[in-house]
Amino acid sequence: MISFDEANKIISAAFNVFKTKITESDLLDALNRILAEDVISDINLPPFDSSAMDGFAIKYSEGIKKWELMGEISAGNYKPYKLSDTTTVRIMTGGKLPDECTAVIPVEDVIENGRSIVLKNSVQVKPGQNIRMLGEDLMRDQVAVQKNTLLKSKHISALAACGKKRVKVYEKLKIAVLVSGDELVDIDKIPTADKIRGSNLYSLLALIKEMNMIPVNLGFVSDIKSEQERKIKTALESDIDILLTSGGVSVGKFDYIPEIFEKLHVQIKFRKVNIKPGKPLIFGIFHNKNKIVFVFGLPGNPVSSFVDFRLFVKSNIFKLFKLDQHDRIKANLSGSITKVDNKKQFIRGIYEYNSTSSKYLVEKLVSQSSGNMIGASKANCLIVVDENTRSVAKGEEVECIIL
Ligand code: AMP
Ligand code: MG
Repeated sequence: MISFDEANKIISAAFNVFKTKITESDLLDALNRILAEDVISDINLPPFDSSAMDGFAIKYSEGIKKWELMGEISAGNYKPYKLSDTTTVRIMTGGKLPDECTAVIPVEDVIENGRSIVLKNSVQVKPGQNIRMLGEDLMRDQVAVQKNTLLKSKHISALAACGKKRVKVYEKLKIAVLVSGDELVDIDKIPTADKIRGSNLYSLLALIKEMNMIPVNLGFVSDIKSEQERKIKTALESDIDILLTSGGVSVGKFDYIPEIFEKLHVQIKFRKVNIKPGKPLIFGIFHNKNKIVFVFGLPGNPVSSFVDFRLFVKSNIFKLFKLDQHDRIKANLSGSITKVDNKKQFIRGIYEYNSTSSKYLVEKLVSQSSGNMIGASKANCLIVVDENTRSVAKGEEVECIIL
């Protein structure tokens, strides 16, 4: 059985041969997509020297405390006033500055007196104050947002300022989900006798949607080998990039998925990973003419398949697109943890910021059953306990993966 690190190395090496494709998108539709170009600005930002406050534009001269008001400039309505040491123009935030202006005094700092203003006693003016200089945010032709950025609303604003109505983004991966098990009924049914609702179909499709990739719902298949083989073959030969199956990968009598993958010439790279939860995990590659389909045989236990997706599917897609996940924190354990085996464990926990200690504290959830997705849904992180660690004492620092 291979280790967590080995499994990730194998998947990441396999993903490396994947040829990401680039497409164009309207700016708004690019939200939550991955940028496929360095976006440069076609103008200086800001494009001209402007006021950062509502106030008065002056030509700074030491000792001067009174100015004659010549007129006003509001944002978008520039007029060419010529300032002297003792004249001023009322200016609004965003207004373009008169050429000679070297400081803007905020409205609150002066007393207005008809056609003149006087500096309040307690106020000091510094040259350069409240001025936004041309190009101080970004000069023309400089990179505003880098290639391989996962575009969030803050980036959309930057791209809009650069005049990008359309942007190059990577094509979304098409990820199909097929869920197996005779015991499964769809979620709009009340399960009777020995049946359960097949929640994995929805949790895996949701995980794909959350990544803003394209989910392909292949639905449910019963534990009939020929049926599973037919559906998996059709899926592998379709235009998907990744196939996820759920269930049927363990050593039960009706766990056919591994032998079906083999029969269909999926190159299996590994079958088990030394982790908990999520140990029975198959990863393989299927070559279809010029195309590759990456195959993950996920376990049926809901928490296991969820955690495996997070640890292996999502993280390697992020790596493929050179994205940083920013998903790890260090926290102090509020109880203790002991473990009896040498598996790397991903323990469902709740972390919170403790303002007294200025540290994160994390608490292990009571239920760690790999079947209990209700319990796991309350967790906001996975506490990582390494293979060789047998116990972690209360107060010790642990690594947590944010969910
Ligand atoms: P398996 O991996 O097929 O041996 O399934 C392991 C456990 O997960 C069994 O208790 C199954 O009933 C359960 N299970 C399998 N598939 C699903 C699913 N789609 N949703 C919820 N539980 C499932
Ligand atoms: Mg099963």
